[in-house]
Amino acid sequence: MAEQKKSLPLNGKTALVTGGGRGIGRAIACALAEAGADVAIVYRSNEAAAYQVRDAIRSLGRRGVALHCDVSRSAEVSAAVEGIHRELGAISIVVNNAGIAQMRTMDEITEGDWDEVLAVNLKGAFLVTQASLPGMRGARWGRIISISSVAAQVGGVVGMHYAASKAGIIGLTHYYAAYLANEGITANAIAPGAIDTEMAAALPLLKPESVPVGRLGTAEEIAAVAVMLACNGYITGQTINVNGGRYPG
Ligand code: NAP
Repeated sequence: MAEQKKSLPLNGKTALVTGGGRGIGRAIACALAEAGADVAIVYRSNEAAAYQVRDAIRSLGRRGVALHCDVSRSAEVSAAVEGIHRELGAISIVVNNAGIAQMRTMDEITEGDWDEVLAVNLKGAFLVTQASLPGMRGARWGRIISISSVAAQVGGVVGMHYAASKAGIIGLTHYYAAYLANEGITANAIAPGAIDTEMAAALPLLKPESVPVGRLGTAEEIAAVAVMLACNGYITGQTINVNGGRYPG
């Protein structure tokens, strides 16, 4: 007798993970594929890493694509979303993960630094969500998952521009959650603490001893929460803190 293919919770869904080629985004892209979704990732500069993740998604039996797209540029976002639509169909899960963290003190920060960080970390999430929403609204099913940071709540070590961009993600999430709840679309944020990625490695002030559990988190610990949010239709408007015991507030 032919073996029955096991159905997975996200079978039939298409996810877009921004910055899916490295770090937290890579772990989320792979975890969503393991949970059954077809997955598109977009990258800004590291094509080789993005293609490796695309191949990993395909090796799990899912459809996967990797496209170049700077999330802070609306024309590139529109082109990428159209490309994903052609290759994989309408986007049902969007993960706003792409981000940059340039460390600046209060005295060092320039207007250019501010504009760049806000453009990638906050405007990028708006542009990508805006371009992906018509498909979700048409299907009356969608998940918007955005990566904030503990810095939104406590300030953090990167800089005021980074903290403000990550606090903005929480406001954006509240707005989408309020206005889309009755259309089958949830919107939530994840606020990681220090997670062991290339970004954290470049921030010398992030040290394991400053985390209550005594270690940095793993990208997979964030990915597990993203999958949980993708599978749950009754959590919306929330910020899930995954920060090793840092108690914000
Ligand atoms: P990472 O290792 O530096 O990876 C960042 C990813 O974002 C890369 O894939 C990069 O693409 C992509 N990216 C950057 N700018 C982009 C742009 N303009 N357009 C498209 N993609 C862009 O960082 P990470 O640690 O995984 O961080 C992922 C997210 O988690 C970020 O939003 C970050 O702020 C947040 N976060 C991280 C930590 C932490 O401790 N690691 C803590 C809290 C929150 P390329 O590979 O092409 O360069």
